[in-house]
Amino acid sequence: MTVYQNYINGRFVDGSSTIDIHNPATGKVFAQHALADSTQVDQAVQAARQCHQSSGFKDLRPVERGRMVRRMGDYLLQNCEEIADLLTREAGKPLWESKIEVEGAARYFEYYGNQAESLEGKSIPLGSNYYDFTVYEPYGVTAHIIPWNYPLEMTARSVSAALTTGNTCVIKTPELDPITNRYIALAAEHVGMPEGLVNIICGLGHEAGEALSSHKDINQIVFTGSVETGIKVASNAAKNVVPCVLELGGKSGAIVLPDADKQNLIDSVRWGIFFGAGQVCSAMSRLIVHDSIHDEVVDQAVALAERITTGPGSEFPEFGDSMGAMISEQQRDRAAGLCKQAQEEGAVIAAGGYKKNVPGFFLEPTVFTNVKPSMTIAQEEVFGPVISVMKFSTEEEALSIINGTQYGLVGGVFTKDLNKAHGLAQNIRAGQIYINEWFAGGVETPFGGYGKSGYGREKGNEALLNYVQTKNIASKLSSLK
Ligand code: NAD
Repeated sequence: MTVYQNYINGRFVDGSSTIDIHNPATGKVFAQHALADSTQVDQAVQAARQCHQSSGFKDLRPVERGRMVRRMGDYLLQNCEEIADLLTREAGKPLWESKIEVEGAARYFEYYGNQAESLEGKSIPLGSNYYDFTVYEPYGVTAHIIPWNYPLEMTARSVSAALTTGNTCVIKTPELDPITNRYIALAAEHVGMPEGLVNIICGLGHEAGEALSSHKDINQIVFTGSVETGIKVASNAAKNVVPCVLELGGKSGAIVLPDADKQNLIDSVRWGIFFGAGQVCSAMSRLIVHDSIHDEVVDQAVALAERITTGPGSEFPEFGDSMGAMISEQQRDRAAGLCKQAQEEGAVIAAGGYKKNVPGFFLEPTVFTNVKPSMTIAQEEVFGPVISVMKFSTEEEALSIINGTQYGLVGGVFTKDLNKAHGLAQNIRAGQIYINEWFAGGVETPFGGYGKSGYGREKGNEALLNYVQTKNIASKLSSLK
């Protein structure tokens, strides 16, 4: 059985122990990965620190750094098939979804590589005897703590921006599916990045994650994961007074007005809740439908859920009505438990609702009706292929439902009336609003949460500011007058 290694200071190395990696489609162990303890975390941080101080990477012209970052994305694309195959085995996704993830990861390197020259300081007038300007400097060593749902793409999202701006990186990969992150290391080597610039360690959250987020030589942290862990990471960051970006969970909803294009809506439901088996932070987990079209929308959502086949990702090379396994037995059973609780609280299963009695960690594509906004299923992130349909009669009521959770990651509106759509969009408390297409937007558009969904923004040009600090240089020019 292959034992995959950590990557520190330009070398693949063993850890202090190993962890079994399961194929979610079969439940069987297919590989092992090195696990880092706090000593190895420290080695990775020191390698990154040393590299930041002495490699000269931060002193390159931005265009040179940008080209290297862009070429890392090219490397991922060149190895897309191989990476996608491994990703399907470690994360349970259909092969076509894995390819989308590899392409998505490559796209971050392309986008941020191209942005390298776009960060400019400004000159501030202080009268003719002074010359004042601002510059942006990299923080130094950045820490990236990654969730298991998009292990490659989430790493790419923050690491591409951190490298473009001249930082070094220590990446803590998710312990359930850490393997494909090795291609980030291979990409960095391929493009000639100096040793220690990119360090990748797999480790347990409470051990390696805790050691990394509380390390005194980390200068900035990006955390993507659950609210509970986010609070711990932010507390550690606060103790060392380092900035922290938190990309946390969500319970995102779409408001559907009577004139919405139904086929278009159902296409969005397909992507919104069944892509990634619903294990997506910005999943469309609540459908808030005008009562005049409620039954019709439910029928179409049920037909969609029943059309979707589940199975091992390797059986689905091309896009279709297919869905993979959930990441682990524990996550699947948690989601199935929330479905059971929903029924006990009075919600009605219109489709699915149960775990599948087959090997692997599968949950049926699920639609709930009769959901009341106060029910657990309408409040808690399921992180599975489960959508809750709720009714409204006035737009005020729709807004109160959509804004009635602790989260605020994304929201949606489906209508042909753009005035109404924008009126609602202004009043939805979320960091990104999708009008008539769930997941509209892209790498170019800022993304992040209101409320407990976190703070700071990833994606878009704005995210570059996460990785730089402003320095102002004010000089008196006494010799001029
Ligand atoms: P998680 O919080 O359990 O783990 C995330 C990462 O944190 C893992 O690498 C884990 O090992 C590490 N970790 C765990 N305990 C830690 C600790 N005490 N200190 C430091 N690190 C620790 O989350 P998960 O289950 O991997 O991911 C699912 C969650 O992530 C969902 O809530 C989802 O919504 C969220 N998510 C958010 C976004 C976003 O962009 N907002 C994207 C993807 C996932």
